[in-house]
Amino acid sequence: MKGNLPIIWNGGGAPPPEFREFLGKGAAEVAQRYPVALSPYWLARCKSADGAPFRLQAFPDARELDAPLPGDSGDPFAELAGASPLPGVVRRFADRILVVVTDACAVRCRHCTRKNILGTHAIPAWRDYPKIADYIRANPAIREVLLSGGDPLALSQDALERRVDIFADLGQIYSVRIGTRIPCSDPARVSPALAKGLGRSRKVWVNTQFNHPAEVTPEAARACALLIDAGIPVSCQTVLVKGLNDNADTLEALFRALQAIRVRPYYAFAGDPVTGTGHFRVTSAEAAALEREVAGRVGGLALPRFVADIPGAGRKTPVVEAAALGSGRGICRE
Ligand SMILES: *Cc1c(COP(=O)(O)O)cnc(C)c1O
Repeated sequence: MKGNLPIIWNGGGAPPPEFREFLGKGAAEVAQRYPVALSPYWLARCKSADGAPFRLQAFPDARELDAPLPGDSGDPFAELAGASPLPGVVRRFADRILVVVTDACAVRCRHCTRKNILGTHAIPAWRDYPKIADYIRANPAIREVLLSGGDPLALSQDALERRVDIFADLGQIYSVRIGTRIPCSDPARVSPALAKGLGRSRKVWVNTQFNHPAEVTPEAARACALLIDAGIPVSCQTVLVKGLNDNADTLEALFRALQAIRVRPYYAFAGDPVTGTGHFRVTSAEAAALEREVAGRVGGLALPRFVADIPGAGRKTPVVEAAALGSGRGICRE
């Protein structure tokens, strides 16, 4: 993979000169708590005429340090504690587990659900993987392994393939799902060799994240096409973000753009109850209204399931249901 190293600023010292024009008041304080990192590719998009969606997702906003909304948490899904059978492994559902394979990303998204725990989350070393495979063998209900992070595609191709293969080689595993934003955030990292290597087992699925139609660039389309043409189904988890995509026109354009590049919209998420993201929060009720409107405009192949990830729920909950549940934790933000 090409080493398009992200440009990083943790708020200490002077900001990288490339960042200066994009930093507002209080940026250093925010960056000390939530570092800034973006790929050269993303930075170039920030500078372009339609750069607003890219800037919004990558540069600090003083409101990230606002007091948390009621019910917000740094680790709402107890990934560091309750739901972790082994360090770096999260099991919230019987048939699938999630493995945090790295804490590196091409872009540190300001809306990241793990923004408070990146860097403190246990990352299994390669020597720990046989223990995870043993755990899966001891739990035959597990059918799917999700590789998450951070961004798994930030690993070297060799490191990633080893992690994919150790799980894909288990007969009980039907799919190894890679959650990666890199086709969108640093698409040049998706090389033909990487796509071929990941497609080999015929068990790999990629779930990526596009949040705005401007992100569906020729470069991103090429990255997705390489994966798809290597036999990897590619779908998209969109995060609903206030001021970015919380209107039906933008979502319609996004979902149509994804369909045009053969990427299937999978989920559209109401905002997770994560500390530091309150200013971005789209509630379940708002998401349900958006779903209703968009569903009247696009066909089923372009329409994701609009869901809320509610701590403690046994599944991703349809936003209509989440909204009807009322003002419980993680549901109603205002
Ligand atoms: C969201 C999530 C999954 C995947 O759920 P799907 O509904 O299959 O997309 C798996 N494990 C964890 C810990 C999750 O948070």
